Amino acid sequence: MTMTTIAASLITIAKLPYAYDALEPYISAETLHFHHDMHYAGYVTKLDELIEGTRYETMELSEIVTSSDGAIFNNAAQAWNHQFYFDSLAPRPKHHPTGELRRAIDEEYGSFDELKNRMTNMAATLFGSGWVWLATDKDGKLYILSKSNAGTPLTEGLIPLLCIDVWEHAYYIDYRNARRDAVEKFWHVVNWSVIEARYDTVVI
Ligand code: MN
Repeated sequence: MTMTTIAASLITIAKLPYAYDALEPYISAETLHFHHDMHYAGYVTKLDELIEGTRYETMELSEIVTSSDGAIFNNAAQAWNHQFYFDSLAPRPKHHPTGELRRAIDEEYGSFDELKNRMTNMAATLFGSGWVWLATDKDGKLYILSKSNAGTPLTEGLIPLLCIDVWEHAYYIDYRNARRDAVEKFWHVVNWSVIEARYDTVVI
């Protein structure tokens, strides 16, 4: 019998949690093929090259994000952010938040529409590449953050709830330079049951 050695993969590429064409017409299969298989997978592959043989190789991905800088941070955060982004979307999503999260949104922003307006405006006006985040602190207070490049609320001790990918690769195939339009369509596939569950693990 031959022993087969399988090379251990340090951080693994998560499978897209739905079919590539599942988010059409809002996000095309072509965009998801490039976004997941090339961009996201590229960050994971690069990260594994960078951390092999270092103190980071035994860490969880989120721990690498909060304890690194430079190229390791950039690739780790982009890997984490993308996994979180893909997991936030669904083909037949729950379109509106309810429960504790809805209560917090209404208290902080006045209405769910106002939350979406603020995040959409922030995404439309973010200069260059980055992410717009909805996050919470340990007391359940909500924050909207605009972050350049691989930026994440994890480095500020906040708990991420939802992110909008504002890198051109997230929308350029489908929407060209119309970023605001892309973000307005993005809301159609955000699965609020997932975002609520993230919030509930903090406040309940
Ligand atoms: Mn992206």
